[in-house]
Amino acid sequence: MSDRHQNLAIIGHVDHGKSTLVGRLLYETGSVPEHVIEQHKEEAEEKGKGGFEFAYVMDNLAEERERGVTIDIAHQEFSTDAYDFTIVDCPGHRDFVKNMITGASQADNAVLVVAADDGVAPQTREHVFLARTLGIGELIVGVNKMDLVDYNESDYEQVVSEVEDLLKQVRFGTEDASFIPISAFEGDNIAERSDNTDWYDGDILLEALNDLPEPEPPTDAPLRLPIQDVYTIDGIGTVPVGRVETGILNVGDNVSFQPSDVGGEVKTVEMHHEEVPKAEPGDNVGFNVRGIGKDDIRRGDVCGPADDPPTVAETFQAQIVVMQHPSVITAGYTPVFHAHTAQVACTIESIDQKIDPSSGEVAEENPDFIQNGDAAVVTIRPQKPLSIEPSGEIPELGSFAIRDMGQTIAAGKVLDVNE
Ligand code: GDP
Repeated sequence: MSDRHQNLAIIGHVDHGKSTLVGRLLYETGSVPEHVIEQHKEEAEEKGKGGFEFAYVMDNLAEERERGVTIDIAHQEFSTDAYDFTIVDCPGHRDFVKNMITGASQADNAVLVVAADDGVAPQTREHVFLARTLGIGELIVGVNKMDLVDYNESDYEQVVSEVEDLLKQVRFGTEDASFIPISAFEGDNIAERSDNTDWYDGDILLEALNDLPEPEPPTDAPLRLPIQDVYTIDGIGTVPVGRVETGILNVGDNVSFQPSDVGGEVKTVEMHHEEVPKAEPGDNVGFNVRGIGKDDIRRGDVCGPADDPPTVAETFQAQIVVMQHPSVITAGYTPVFHAHTAQVACTIESIDQKIDPSSGEVAEENPDFIQNGDAAVVTIRPQKPLSIEPSGEIPELGSFAIRDMGQTIAAGKVLDVNE
């Protein structure tokens, strides 16, 4: 166990070996889920000598998938010398958008799996593009299934150069990417250096994972605390509750609630029914602010410092990806936007650019409509005041889901806000 933590996304084209790699990582780090070990303990003890264990892990993961108990490779955990890793949802996973919005899917870094015998494929492009949109820091590229190409160096170099081209197209700095020839299935260059690739002397996968930069807790950013609920508590008064997304909330701070546009001095902060002097990112708190009544503030407000208050958007520009809409989206469409704890109807005022999701480049200026699979830059006008921030400044408050007809139809991130 380590006290340092990483949220890791495993991305890549279907069948390139994401699940196998996760199984391999769980196995090599001794983090196979308990129920998998329990299930086949005896059998594993009988036959499980030398190398069989990995097959057991994979068989069980596969079995679960067949039974429809989707072996969620998401939410598996493993530890290395340097970090505890949580594998978060990948693009394409059914809860991905929801989790992205609630912050659960905020991956710090990612492993991109590309099969050596196939190279860059459609979802490789899509996932790299989404990874960039969602602000993934570093990318470790595992060129997988090296066993299928006889561990041939020139096949590896060919895939590396395809991926480098892709990264350049989506403006993902190649200095933020490292490449490793691996076989998730055979275990080459995962936990131990492989003799099969004697031409390779870079980091193996576990070394590269250990060397990932430590995610910075967003304590340097200004305080942003979206309000989930507002209670009235005897003897204390009005108590807004919510989770600190960025910055620090201190007793004695002067705070402002936006867009309600009221504020005052923080008198008390409570966490787990105990008074605390301050709260940090990730803390769920209730607090009390001098002079604020129950009807002055509401769910969807964001609390921030009085001298650096949360931004209220008159209009904003955003990049959106349309995931599932039954027809086409045109200017004038007014669905409900879910951003942090706010739900506000917003009009898509104009569709400014259609973006090619595979390259990230502008495909069309001012298109008449967009539809499923399209990415676009749009200008949005909230129908009621909404506090939202450019994701480049405060990522935690810069992403949103667009919902209509009871489902999430699109997701996006804020590029720019006009106050
Ligand atoms: P995913 O769809 O990306 O999760 O891919 P899977 O992990 O399900 O792998 C797809 C298929 O490729 C399975 O049959 C795996 O056994 C196989 N596979 C995965 N990694 C390797 C590898 O390194 N070498 C070989 N030969 N096969 C692999």
